[in-house]
Amino acid sequence: MTLDIRENVALAPLTTFGIGGSAKFFVEVSSESEISEALAWAKEHRETFRVLAGGSNVLIPDGGLEGLVIRIVEGSTSYIKDGPLCVEADAGCNVLKLIRAASECGLGGWEKLAGIPGTIGGAVRGNAGAFGPEIKDFVTRVRALNSQSGEVKEFSNVECDFSYRHSFFKDHPEWIIVHVWLELRPADPQDSDRLSDETIAEREKRHLQNVRAAGSFFMNPSAPANIVEMFESEKGMKAREGRVPAGWLIEKAGLKGHKVGDAIASVQHPNYIVNTGCATAHDVRNLAQVIKLEVSAQFGVELQEEAALF
Ligand SMILES: Cc1cc2nc3c(=O)[nH]c(=O)nc-3n(C[C@H](O)[C@H](O)[C@H](O)COP(=O)(O)OP(=O)(O)OC[C@H]3O[C@@H](n4cnc5c(N)ncnc54)[C@H](O)[C@@H]3O)c2cc1C
Repeated sequence: MTLDIRENVALAPLTTFGIGGSAKFFVEVSSESEISEALAWAKEHRETFRVLAGGSNVLIPDGGLEGLVIRIVEGSTSYIKDGPLCVEADAGCNVLKLIRAASECGLGGWEKLAGIPGTIGGAVRGNAGAFGPEIKDFVTRVRALNSQSGEVKEFSNVECDFSYRHSFFKDHPEWIIVHVWLELRPADPQDSDRLSDETIAEREKRHLQNVRAAGSFFMNPSAPANIVEMFESEKGMKAREGRVPAGWLIEKAGLKGHKVGDAIASVQHPNYIVNTGCATAHDVRNLAQVIKLEVSAQFGVELQEEAALF
């Protein structure tokens, strides 16, 4: 296959934020061999590269990106059923499509992840999760390609080193996820589809869906005991794994609805930084900085970005 390398491609429309400049070079790939070819092209032309997938957890700089942007998209045969309880999928497969496709095969159990935008590769890299379950609960194996050595390796679930919004791949961006195996549970297709629809409706009700944002901008931080206690007594619920919601801290810091340019800390969900019009990456970064400084000053908690800042 000959790659279609394009020049000066606008990246903002390929992200949910709708922010950022152009890629100097750009290519769309859907298979392991195409990803390999794209990497070889970058090496041959002495260009750096970046991986973009669904674009739902990234902030692209206003000045765009040098080098080659390798966008992993869905191919024509990107998933198949693999044994009685398993499905396997190429990295570019859309998560919701995969949940629906598995349901058609009588497999489910992961419907609470329905509506998380983006690809299965992106979900594995960030251990995406919602309403309790995380993708780590279903992944059995991940095939990845080392962009430096060319090595291809299959990682077990344990080797993926999953934890809250973390995986081995987040710490090692030289490894590109190319294929994922998942184990699900037997499910009636109608029940599974209904559960997915209910999850998406709940997300819409909570303003978590169809927003020009990158999802939660910050990870929920581990907090000192007094802050955890404050959260638990105020909300009447246990803090999960000693973490408090970043959105709660942002609201308590008085920054709900705070704006920098066209970027706002959402009123409905303050941990979403939303592009309300023509926000720039500069606006988003400045707002994020204000939030980090204020939360640190008021609560002694250091917020860390969940979104990838390119
Ligand atoms: C409205 C909205 C709601 C959201 N809700 C949730 C939620 O409920 N829970 C949640 O966890 N997240 C949520 N997110 C964040 C986002 O959907 C997830 O992080 C998603 O898994 C990102 O996948 P992606 O394909 O879009 O990755 P991208 O945004 O394209 O990339 C994100 C990062 O992953 C890297 N990457 C992507 N693919 C690969 C690969 N194959 N190999 C190696 N690295 C790769 C990229 O280089 C980049 O660093 C939400 C986002 C939005 C916009």
